[in-house]
Amino acid sequence: MRTRMLATIAFGALMSFNQPVGASAPLAGAQAPGYYRIMVGDIEVTALSDGTIDFPMDTLLLGESPATIRAAFAAAFQKLPAESSMNQFLVNTGSRLVLVDAGAGTFFGPTLGHTVANLRAAGYTPEQVDEVVITHMHADHTGGLVHDGKAVFPNAVLRIAKADVGFWMDPTNEPKAPEGVRVSFDVARKALAPYAASGRLKPFEGETEIVPGVRALPAPGHTAGHTYYAVESKGEKLLVWGDVVHAAAVQFANPKVFIAWDSDGSGAQGARENVFADAARKGYLVGGAHLPFPGLGHVARAADGKGYVFVPATYTVNRRAH
Ligand SMILES: [Zn+2]
Ligand SMILES: [Zn+2]
Repeated sequence: MRTRMLATIAFGALMSFNQPVGASAPLAGAQAPGYYRIMVGDIEVTALSDGTIDFPMDTLLLGESPATIRAAFAAAFQKLPAESSMNQFLVNTGSRLVLVDAGAGTFFGPTLGHTVANLRAAGYTPEQVDEVVITHMHADHTGGLVHDGKAVFPNAVLRIAKADVGFWMDPTNEPKAPEGVRVSFDVARKALAPYAASGRLKPFEGETEIVPGVRALPAPGHTAGHTYYAVESKGEKLLVWGDVVHAAAVQFANPKVFIAWDSDGSGAQGARENVFADAARKGYLVGGAHLPFPGLGHVARAADGKGYVFVPATYTVNRRAH
């Protein structure tokens, strides 16, 4: 009896909420702050969104016909130009705070450049970052290092593969580069300057431990010094793989598809095929700069035995990575 009475009251309350109330709420308009946390063993990783940017993937992707690429986007329910995420990964080992990539800063307009705002929303400050490690020196990964000529991460050591520093700081390479990446030379000079001036630019060569739990692994192709960062703790692993994939809708199914910005298209193809095979075999988590935010998931072999599929990580409120 009592239950029925409560149910009646509850139903009445529900009905009254559904009545028109005279004033409608305005559309809220903005997206939630772009951060998402997981644990890798004892290490906390926060994916930070820099925002998104629209890319005409049917003209940028090479190695397949534009019609096939358009069909793959349509099959994935995506419009062209494709709205592409730009993701950074903040790694807190418990004793050191390492940021992988810095986002675009002010160099690509208002849809990008939100890494610092999202880092603050996630409970950190730029001053706390001990190391900024860069997957490669394309401007969407380095622009956020600098603002008005000053270091955005004033206490951080900047770590980049020597091969990329050498290539992007050499002005003789600039006129030979494809148009879409030429801006990266100018941004590289501006972005590295304040760190170099204060003795905090420390390039590395080959496989290198950045801090305990974070290791740099050379993966040339997309650029000469393109680097993965492996985050490992207690038998768990996240591989932050930079620009292995620009278009998930196309390149998992066909890893041979490459992008006009690759310094070495066939090198990038080979690196992609190797890392897909390794990640699928070993089952570790991957984090991609241009996978849909938060850019975390697993690589599985496709059921037809050809190609791969991306399995986005399951949402977690308790930071357990799945
Ligand atoms: Zn790139
Ligand atoms: Zn990129």
